[in-house]
Amino acid sequence: MARTVGKITLVRRIVQVCMLVLFCLPPLLAGWGLAGLFAGGDGEVATPAEGVFFGSLSSSSVSGVTLFDPLAALEVLAASRSLLVASALAGALLVAVVYGLVRARAFCSWVCPVNLIGEGVDAARRRLGIAVPESTVPRRAKIGVAVAVVALSALVGFPVFELVSPIGAVNKGLVFGGFAGLGTLVAIVIAELLVSRRVWCRSLCPLGGTFQVLGRAGQVNVAIDHGACIHCDKCREACLADPAILDAPLAGADVIVRAGDCMACGACVDACPTDALRFRLGRPRKPAAAPADEALTAL
Ligand code: SF4
Ligand code: SF4
Repeated sequence: MARTVGKITLVRRIVQVCMLVLFCLPPLLAGWGLAGLFAGGDGEVATPAEGVFFGSLSSSSVSGVTLFDPLAALEVLAASRSLLVASALAGALLVAVVYGLVRARAFCSWVCPVNLIGEGVDAARRRLGIAVPESTVPRRAKIGVAVAVVALSALVGFPVFELVSPIGAVNKGLVFGGFAGLGTLVAIVIAELLVSRRVWCRSLCPLGGTFQVLGRAGQVNVAIDHGACIHCDKCREACLADPAILDAPLAGADVIVRAGDCMACGACVDACPTDALRFRLGRPRKPAAAPADEALTAL
């Protein structure tokens, strides 16, 4: 059944599309400039790298400040076996601190184009009436994938995930018509249509696994008003990360969604019919009476 788009999801869609345009525009503009499609006489055409913003989702430059995705930086570090990649490490640290303080996996739901495609596949699957299981692979598997990717990069001396990454494939494909990573993207679409709901973003993406670990420090959290909850389960059905991360707050064992896996996507807030859920800043302590099952909510 088609779902109505809530306010937070609408804003998120706009941000997702803006991000896609932001990463594709500088090289496209430069290409048009070089092809003489801009008026500007015979003056020199600036290269994309000379602009205010340039780059990909793995590494970019904003007003001369280099930003690196933390997993790509770890891969480069492992592959080069040298601490001389200082700019990558500094850029990754900046990204890790900023995202970590907000909600690390907000990158997944607000910026990453693969999540946008995954949500499209999910909607198409629902319309077509194709039923697939919720969570066939544990969501912590993606942390293991991240560790394996870094170890393999060290072994072969090359940042391996960047070669097959579906994340870069979207904007490289749109701008350059490149096919690197396209195979991964096709495999993801097939798996999410036929095997398990959102299996890539929930359980397999190594960048998601890296942000899942950082997510424990996030200060933007979904909070619950236990008195207003009617236990309709609509939030769990809508959750982009894993319905299980809502278990503790719904059971009255916590006051926020504490898991580092929460993407701060707001789908649960939009879906709640009684406004029992809302975003709040800060991480209040877990209620003392809560079951000490840290394994449920740790990551
Ligand atoms: S708990 Fe809510 S905000 Fe967090 S990932 Fe699930 S739906 Fe999104
Ligand atoms: S959608 Fe709202 S009312 Fe329904 S179970 Fe979730 S928090 Fe409770």
